[in-house]
Amino acid sequence: PVPPDAPWLVGLNPEQLTAVTSLDGPLLVLSGAGTGKTKVLTARLAQLLASRRAQPWQCLAVTFTNRAAREMRERVAALVGPAANDLWLGTFHSLCLKILRRHPEAVGLVPDFTILDADDQLRLLKKVMEDERIDPKTTPPQALMGAIQRWKDQALTPDKVGAAQAGDLAGGRAVHLYRLYQQRLKSLNACDFGDLLLHVLTLFLSDEAVLRSWQDRFRYLLVDEYQDTNVAQYLWLRLLARRHHNICCVGDDDQSIYSWRGAEIGNILRFESDFPGAKIVRLERNYRSTPHILSAASGLIAHNGGRLGKTLRPGLEHDPERVEKIRTRAVWDGEAEARMVVETIETYQRQGEPLASMAILVRVGFQTREFEERLIATGVPYRVIGGPRFYERAEIRDALAYLRLVQSPADGLAFERIVNTPKRGLGEAALRDVAVYAREHDLPLLEASRRLVETDLLKPRPRKALAAFVADVARWRSLLGSMPQDELTATILDESGYVAMWKADKAADAPGRVDNLKELVAAIAEYESLGAFLEHVALVMENDAKAEGDRVVVMTLHGAKGLEFDSVFLPGWEEEIFPHLRALEESGDKGLEEERRLAYVGLTRARRRVLISFAANRRVYNQWKTQLPSRFLAELPEADVEREADRGLFAGGAPTDYSAQHLAEPRSTWSYPARRSSSSSAAASAPATRSVSAFKPGARVTHDRFGDGTVLAVEGHTLHVAFDGAGTRTLIDSYVTAL
Ligand code: ATP
Ligand code: MG
Repeated sequence: PVPPDAPWLVGLNPEQLTAVTSLDGPLLVLSGAGTGKTKVLTARLAQLLASRRAQPWQCLAVTFTNRAAREMRERVAALVGPAANDLWLGTFHSLCLKILRRHPEAVGLVPDFTILDADDQLRLLKKVMEDERIDPKTTPPQALMGAIQRWKDQALTPDKVGAAQAGDLAGGRAVHLYRLYQQRLKSLNACDFGDLLLHVLTLFLSDEAVLRSWQDRFRYLLVDEYQDTNVAQYLWLRLLARRHHNICCVGDDDQSIYSWRGAEIGNILRFESDFPGAKIVRLERNYRSTPHILSAASGLIAHNGGRLGKTLRPGLEHDPERVEKIRTRAVWDGEAEARMVVETIETYQRQGEPLASMAILVRVGFQTREFEERLIATGVPYRVIGGPRFYERAEIRDALAYLRLVQSPADGLAFERIVNTPKRGLGEAALRDVAVYAREHDLPLLEASRRLVETDLLKPRPRKALAAFVADVARWRSLLGSMPQDELTATILDESGYVAMWKADKAADAPGRVDNLKELVAAIAEYESLGAFLEHVALVMENDAKAEGDRVVVMTLHGAKGLEFDSVFLPGWEEEIFPHLRALEESGDKGLEEERRLAYVGLTRARRRVLISFAANRRVYNQWKTQLPSRFLAELPEADVEREADRGLFAGGAPTDYSAQHLAEPRSTWSYPARRSSSSSAAASAPATRSVSAFKPGARVTHDRFGDGTVLAVEGHTLHVAFDGAGTRTLIDSYVTAL
């Protein structure tokens, strides 16, 4: 028996206590953000172990990310000791992998099978298509890959995909290709991510004894973020729970934000009928946020239809004097937004708030770029969670490799990275020939290629492809200096087929990559030359990537699920960014409602303060666009919001009234003074950046990290500075201030 004053039981409210101590039978905890669902799961694990109802390895707990699993394990360990190490606690993928490692042969694999990454998967699928003479032009491999992934999310093996589901993709042969792809994976002793779950399901359904042994083992099942499980995950849970029926799922229908990955909100609605006798517990007290934040979030989500409906009440005492309203702030453009947000972060920091308790939560990945630049420039440490930093993303590195090659034709690493990306039919053999020729003649790879294509050392096909590539680079290079660098970048990305490659990609993250490339072009426009930009990037990348210590968090809203911060910054609340254009283009309200749930997730991450911002203008690709405030701003209850705008931002007065009527009006009635015409290409008249540094040799400057120093030389915006205590360094002038 567990004493009632066990540390994990102390302070729970009566509903939470019920959820933690009702250990037997199916249980669904359905409640809003910050009501202690995750806390309940953690306490329940402690309760299970302390009561000796089950051995740690008989408890299976599923979290949404590996990080969440790690945290939960640490908490349980702090409560009941090292027994926590033996819990089966992890994501669906990691748990399935663990099971599959024990029975690989049952699904045709050998121990030590490998898991393919996205690149390898695609390469393999392309081979299958080639063998079957499927034209990649009419059937983009990425589209087929996307279909296969969706089938796997739905637990559909090749023989279970119906004709209707397959449609006429790949000339009606999609299922056949899916089957061949799976066979090929097996012959390589490999599987992809989707297979982890699918194989375990196949195993369970084909081997009664094995299923039985796992069902017997897992006496207790616990699932966090249940609203975002897909069909395959749901079937897996249901199978495992069939023996002991002790399954506890916690979730919030208002936070279902992964339907694009196959999540089925219906799994929540089905719980009672699937698990007869299920107990439902509702938690209503929110222990995370201030009353204003709660009420704003509730007011916003009330605009969604078809909700289960929940009450949220503040669970903490709040000093009315100190509770801040949510702030919304209109700014001129993305740069002003980043400046304003980072200034606010610094203000909060001066007031004693740790950086790690502040988060910038963006809707789409490309938005992080401007914040990262500003954080670097001001020396505020930050970390990007759930994704690489902007300039480290694969598509950005590829694009930079193109630019580097055009700028410095001898850059061999850049050449290698993109000579066959997108695929140009240059096989390994041809590239080896280039490398050998280059070594023998002591030439850079590009120059070696140029000469090699004049010989007949290469086979005709690769020779033609390589000649075309060499000619492309030469042509782009001839445009250096005459064409504005952002236009040149757009041209290169376009003519090389690189953007087209991602546009054809049907993977869920592909549109985000196209957006990142656009953002890159916008970033380049701000420098006076391509060279200056590439130098800037080199310096930014050099900035230490270690993610320790007190750092501001930058991440997407999708990644922030389940987390909490004292202060939350929500930038880019503009129509077509948030709600996102792709959601608005969907027919019906489904897409829009999911965006609204995402906004609800964002707001409810905050304990104390929320600052929402939106810009009047954004540069998208190389064009300025006039932006409309997000409709979600108008949906926030007036009583909980303080609306501000940068001074002088709006010509016609009355700037902060974002009533719904405004949104219904056509764009032209918005009275933002246009800095530049939004219709003309902005590239030609490069924006108002200084063309040369204001610093002169001999000037005294100071830098956040390196201290004071003297400028030795100036090249564009690059400074060579002899620091008094940190040696001579090369940096971009915006990192230092004059003394
Ligand atoms: P989300 O829906 O965002 O995942 P959640 O329902 O999982 O939220 P938790 O993260 O478990 O909520 O809890 C939110 C915060 O409230 C945490 O800081 C937690 O420690 C605190 N909390 C939960 N219950 C109580 C309680 N009874 N007393 C004090 N604090 C509590
Ligand atoms: Mg949670």
